[in-house]
Amino acid sequence: MAGFVTRFAPSPTGPLHLGHAYSAILAHDMAREAGGRFLVRMEDTDLLRCKPEWKSAIIEDLQWLGLNWDGPVLNQSSHIQSYATRLETLICAGLLYPCSCTRGDIRAALAAPQEGVAHQIYPGTCRRRPMSDRRPGDALRLDLTKALAQLDPSGLEYSETGPRHTGRHCINPEEAQRTIGDIVLHRKDEEIVAYFLASAFDDADQAISHVIRGEDLFAFTPIQVILQHLLSLPTPVYHHHRLIRDDQGKRLAKRDDARAIAKYRSEGASAQDIRRMVGLERV
Ligand code: GLU
Repeated sequence: MAGFVTRFAPSPTGPLHLGHAYSAILAHDMAREAGGRFLVRMEDTDLLRCKPEWKSAIIEDLQWLGLNWDGPVLNQSSHIQSYATRLETLICAGLLYPCSCTRGDIRAALAAPQEGVAHQIYPGTCRRRPMSDRRPGDALRLDLTKALAQLDPSGLEYSETGPRHTGRHCINPEEAQRTIGDIVLHRKDEEIVAYFLASAFDDADQAISHVIRGEDLFAFTPIQVILQHLLSLPTPVYHHHRLIRDDQGKRLAKRDDARAIAKYRSEGASAQDIRRMVGLERV
C-alpha cells in the first residue's frame, strides 16, 4: 500500500518482553508486506523512569529479532522543548487551565467511585482558574467541554483495523466527557507533556499512516483523535492488536522479567522461537 508508515514506540522503562516483541514484529511485518516504512521511536519523555541502558537493550533485542527500521531512531527526550512550545496553541485558544490538585484532592472531591471509566475523571476543581494564575508546580489540564465545543462532532472519527474493533469509530462528545474528562497535558512534577500529546505530535511529524499497538492503548485513541483535531494534525488508521498474556491470563508488564527477550536469548532461543511463541512464525 502506497504511503504505509508505521512505528514501534516503546517507553524505555524496562526490558523488552514477549508482548513488546509481538507488537514490534507485527508492525514491522505489516509495513514490509505493504511495501511501506517501519520506524522506531523511543517514548522517553519521563526522564525519571526511562533509562539510557533500557534504550540500548531494546535496540539490541530488536536487532536480534531480525527487525530493521527505516531511518534513525527518534528519541522524544530530544524534543521536550518543542512539545512544550507547541502546547502554546492550546493555551492561546484558551483551552488549558492550571491545576494544583493532588491525587488525594481528586479522590476526596469525587464522592463515589466512577463506573465504566478507565481513569478517574477530574472533578473540575480548578477549571475556572485562568492561565494568568499559573503557579510553579501546577499541571495544565485540557478543558474538554470547551475543546469539544470548538470541534465539529461529525468529524470526530477514525478507522480501526485491529481484530476486536474493526470498523469506523465515531467519538461521541457526551461520552468523551464522561469517560475522558479534563486530562492533564503537562505534568507538574517534571516539565513534560503527556504521553498521548507527544505521541500525537510525533505520529504527525513522522507521517505515520497506521498506528499499530496493543489493545491496552485502545481507550486512549479518542483522546488522541480529539487532540489531533484541536491541533490540526492528521488522524492515522489505528490497529490495536491482541495482548500477550502470562499463564494466569494477565497482560505482561515491564516487571515480567521472566518473559524478557534477553532471558530467552540467554537460554539459547532463536528469533524464530520468539516468533513462534507469539504466533507470528514465518514459514
Ligand atoms: N510508548 C507506549 C508504550 O510503551 C506506546 C505508545 C503507542 O504505541 O502509541 O506503551
